Amino acid sequence: MDYAISNTPSATTVNDLLATLGVDPSGLKAVWLSLPAATFATPDRFGDEMTFADGIMLRTYDEKSCMADALLDIVQELRLSTECTCTFGHEGGFQIATILTDICSKKGKPGDIALLRDLAPVMAVQSICDEGKALGRAVAQALDLFGSEIKEHITKKVCSAGSCRAFQTYHILVSKCIGCGKCLDVCEDDAILGKPKFVHVVVQKNCTQCNRCLEVCPEGAIITAGAEKPKTPPKPIPCKRR
Ligand code: SF4
Ligand code: SF4
Repeated sequence: MDYAISNTPSATTVNDLLATLGVDPSGLKAVWLSLPAATFATPDRFGDEMTFADGIMLRTYDEKSCMADALLDIVQELRLSTECTCTFGHEGGFQIATILTDICSKKGKPGDIALLRDLAPVMAVQSICDEGKALGRAVAQALDLFGSEIKEHITKKVCSAGSCRAFQTYHILVSKCIGCGKCLDVCEDDAILGKPKFVHVVVQKNCTQCNRCLEVCPEGAIITAGAEKPKTPPKPIPCKRR
């Protein structure tokens, strides 16, 4: 969630800023402080005194926030907020945005984290504009703070926050399915198994996450899941509900 803060005291803490905004810090895993600070703060730093310019944007992240996706948003915003075309700021920003987009789209490659680690510090030093420098710093800091969460998208094909759409899976709940077959009829990817009055089952490897089944199910029996998956049968079984 974004908060615009004006009349910022020159030296204050994230805790004080959150208190001013009426935000409970207990459920947060990080905040982002916009330019000129351009930095993440994790809860262990919420009490540290920091120096701010007047007028800042604060963005909060909780357990359902994916930090790979969060970083991609910040990178895109910083890229769009400058017209600088220097090689490091412009091309480096493009490369980083492309890599992060791939990571969030389940297309991340084994060398991507190392590439980000190479690019970010160079951008932080060599970019001409403040935005390019901030972008490099933000990426380097995010890798230090949230590197394992970002890396999981590549190595385990998991978005542990459950927020990246490409990593969501579809599941049909035994407790709710009445075996009407409407989901089977709309699935164009042969990703649903079932027959009348049997609990239908999603074949994950065929699912293209088109969402048609979820929209058509009259019982609300189809759900999406992130890191934690519900238990469902491997093949259709007779419905408990008729
Ligand atoms: S999301 Fe689309 S592809 Fe996946 S099971 Fe549902 S209808 Fe089929
Ligand atoms: S998941 Fe929904 S649409 Fe599909 S068979 Fe079960 S009740 Fe019908």
